[in-house]
Amino acid sequence: MRGIREGGCSCGAARYQMDLTDAETGNCHCRDCQKQSGAPFATVITVKADQFKWLKQPEGETSVSDAAIRRFCNKCGTPLQWCGVDYTDIANINMTTLDDTSGIDIVYEIYTRSRVAGILPVKGAAQSMAGYADLK
Ligand SMILES: [Zn+2]
Ligand SMILES: [Zn+2]
Repeated sequence: MRGIREGGCSCGAARYQMDLTDAETGNCHCRDCQKQSGAPFATVITVKADQFKWLKQPEGETSVSDAAIRRFCNKCGTPLQWCGVDYTDIANINMTTLDDTSGIDIVYEIYTRSRVAGILPVKGAAQSMAGYADLK
């Protein structure tokens, strides 16, 4: 999992580029991610802030808690970015919005206490009932 990749929303109004050299990817099963993604969990890819850039930044912005701002495409609704107020040095992007998701391993899962019934743990991925900090 190396090199520069691009991604974006369904309609193409939002586009980004990121360097995956030091990227880490995990599934977040928190209730906010479930509701925002409309799926059992969100798969989030994290890089240092300077390894990510918007080519066309989405205009949609929302906040469902004090912890973060979420960016989405206001034209097609695709959820794209989670910006934690305490994590301005990193960029968290919904991994499945990459144009090419091949070869990316899920290395951790967080907020597994709200894992949807029937969704099994990813084999070999670190597991935390709570947040990312608990894995360290
Ligand atoms: Zn769009
Ligand atoms: Zn979450």
